[in-house]
Amino acid sequence: MKSLYVKLAITTIAIMIASSLISFMFSNFYYQQKLKPDNDDKNTNIALDMASYVESEEDLNLERYLEHMAAVGYQIFLTDQDGNETYYGNPFRDQSLPGETIELVLSGEVYHGIKQFPQETFVTGFFANELTNTIGVPFEHNQIQYALFIRPDIKLLFNEMHILFAWILVLTIVLSIILVLINTKFLVNPLSKLTAATNELSEGNFSIKLEIERDDEIGKLAKGFKHMAEQLDKLDQTKNEFISNVSHDIQSPLSNIKGYSNLLKKNTLNQEDKDLYISIINNEINRLSNLTKQLLLLASLDKQDDLLKKTTYSLSDQLKDVIFNHQWSISEKGIMASYSLPDTQINGDRTLLYNVWENLLTNAIKYNKENGNLDISILENEHDIDIRFKDSGIGFSEEVQEQMFDRFYREDSSRTKEVEGTGLGLSIVASIVDLHGGQIQIDSEKHVGSTFTIILPKNTN
Ligand code: ADP
Repeated sequence: MKSLYVKLAITTIAIMIASSLISFMFSNFYYQQKLKPDNDDKNTNIALDMASYVESEEDLNLERYLEHMAAVGYQIFLTDQDGNETYYGNPFRDQSLPGETIELVLSGEVYHGIKQFPQETFVTGFFANELTNTIGVPFEHNQIQYALFIRPDIKLLFNEMHILFAWILVLTIVLSIILVLINTKFLVNPLSKLTAATNELSEGNFSIKLEIERDDEIGKLAKGFKHMAEQLDKLDQTKNEFISNVSHDIQSPLSNIKGYSNLLKKNTLNQEDKDLYISIINNEINRLSNLTKQLLLLASLDKQDDLLKKTTYSLSDQLKDVIFNHQWSISEKGIMASYSLPDTQINGDRTLLYNVWENLLTNAIKYNKENGNLDISILENEHDIDIRFKDSGIGFSEEVQEQMFDRFYREDSSRTKEVEGTGLGLSIVASIVDLHGGQIQIDSEKHVGSTFTIILPKNTN
């Protein structure tokens, strides 16, 4: 398999060769169609001029004159009626010329050899140093009939130009090939780096250093790739953290259950201790069951494949239900609760939204102070419904606020540790609100209290 570098280099060079050949063919065609007749005309005029000059100067030394013209830049062939042939100037490469052509010119005709020169695709007639590629004119000198054949001596006239053009051609070819090779390398290099990075990624190494700084499509591809690697890295870390959190949160109630059930085996225990241990075991079982329920809910929210089962129902009644179910813990903590729950209909997934209100309410109770305040209200606007949970609890800093929606996040404070929790509640709230196209607004001050406002759009389609 040829590498992209070799393929690109070969195709570019092949394109260069093909286009040179095609342009040569086209310019040759142009010479044949347009320039050749012009060239023939020009040289015919010169030849006729020479002939008429010779005819007008009776005392002219013909030989000297033609030698002089040859020196100026012509290849000349002269023949007379008796067949005496003389060449002047640089020799013709091919000296053959049909006898009848000579006869024709001796009889007074002009021979247009340049115009009649055969068309060949790859040989421009302009350069053909052949006797047939000449202009033949008749003249008479000292009562002798002559036929004069001339053509410009290309070698003499254009030799330096030839060398110059040859140099230009060679340099252009060599430089183009070198530049094509460099440019191809420049193009292909980042792709090789990307391939190496993809291989690393597939082997599980997400911290990839990709040094490609460009603004073009390849640069954008590299940026996208880096971003993807970072996201995969984050996902991998989150997955690992998640597994270790879940394992820890399952392990600790299990070891408590094991420990207390072992204690229960002892015969020396009095009824009071037994009751205490059984209630601890029960609590731990509840904790485990709560955790697994939340984990299952999170997993189903992540999949997002079972679409929301939306219905229109009374939000105020649902909130009253949630409050009723938790009334005992509100009273237990001596919390002063106030509600503003005007009759409001909402379109959403009833079961999932129940989870949202339950999580927010239990947090507002759990993190509240003894005898604190709690206020729950619904505010219906033109486009959305705002549901507000305001407590006068421990509050939290902005730093906590940034992380509180992360899975398993719990503030690392003694007050939070006193309270039961899995750190999953708010991440569940965020996922459900997000699925409903809503937003969460938070306002909190440490030791003063917190307000969570859920803003759900009315038109949820
Ligand atoms: P959990 O309550 O099980 O710990 P959550 O996801 O519901 O988990 O909450 C995450 C963290 O956010 C809590 O541990 C707590 O530190 C903080 N938090 C949540 N709600 C409140 C609140 N009303 N007042 C103060 N802190 C809160």
